[in-house]
Amino acid sequence: MKDLKNCSQSILENKVREFLSTGKNKFYLHDITRATGLPLHEVEDFFLPLLKENEIEGSLEVRCPKCGIEMGIYTKYPDIPEELYCENCGHSFQKSTDDLEIVLDVKSKFFRVSPKGRLNLVDRKLTSCELNGFLNDSLKEKNPLEKGKKFEYFFENFMAQQDGFTFVDKHCRSRVGEIDYFYRSKHSEHPLWRSYNYVFIECKNWKDKIPSKEISHFIVLLKRKNLFKCCGIYLTISALSPEANTEMEDARKTEKLFVLALEKNTLPKLIEKGLKEYMEGVCDKIVSKS
Ligand SMILES: [Zn+2]
Repeated sequence: MKDLKNCSQSILENKVREFLSTGKNKFYLHDITRATGLPLHEVEDFFLPLLKENEIEGSLEVRCPKCGIEMGIYTKYPDIPEELYCENCGHSFQKSTDDLEIVLDVKSKFFRVSPKGRLNLVDRKLTSCELNGFLNDSLKEKNPLEKGKKFEYFFENFMAQQDGFTFVDKHCRSRVGEIDYFYRSKHSEHPLWRSYNYVFIECKNWKDKIPSKEISHFIVLLKRKNLFKCCGIYLTISALSPEANTEMEDARKTEKLFVLALEKNTLPKLIEKGLKEYMEGVCDKIVSKS
């Protein structure tokens, strides 16, 4: 399984290089799936972590399903109106991923894919009690570097217990414990999973309260990934400052992003319920409030 993944990664890398060498730096995601014969979800898994400002930028092109005319270009999925009307042929239709073309624009001259981060997993099913133990180990740790490692260990093993979530990629950006993860969700029962098939998780092991500028930065990062219907979790072993909370609420309202914070006091509940049930609960609460 693992070798198969690495194999598709190198096929994709080579194909993008090939496109670039012919002077083509803007292409449809479909061109890549067609040219490689790989399943769409593997191609999406490959590109999602690479979407970054000044590296690979993407946009969504809406096409009329009846006449095929281009009806507009959007930078993120929530921006596309739910109801669409084609002025060319008079056809009305509901927004759907089927009528979208994902356009990728490779900005940087040198296309280099960083090797996928490795997960550090215990090779068996873990109990809530054991997961709580890993969490407490990291909370108690005084050395910041060790604390970061232990928190990562807790988080990766917690995620490995969650059915229906597949690891896509991780990036360790710095030694102070700022880590981001991508998981693909295979769930579909709850409306949340029909709107989002990726979860982007930022883990922060700072002791201090999270200031609002951290949350705005997180939202900027998430928006860049939003081409692929990605929701966001900000996981912290501290708590959000009141301003940071407001920042997050605003992003939900004005940017129509699904973002939530998992703070220290919610972690035992998260372990007990599991990510799927926990997130569905938060989603229901947000919907009932609005
Ligand atoms: Zn039309």
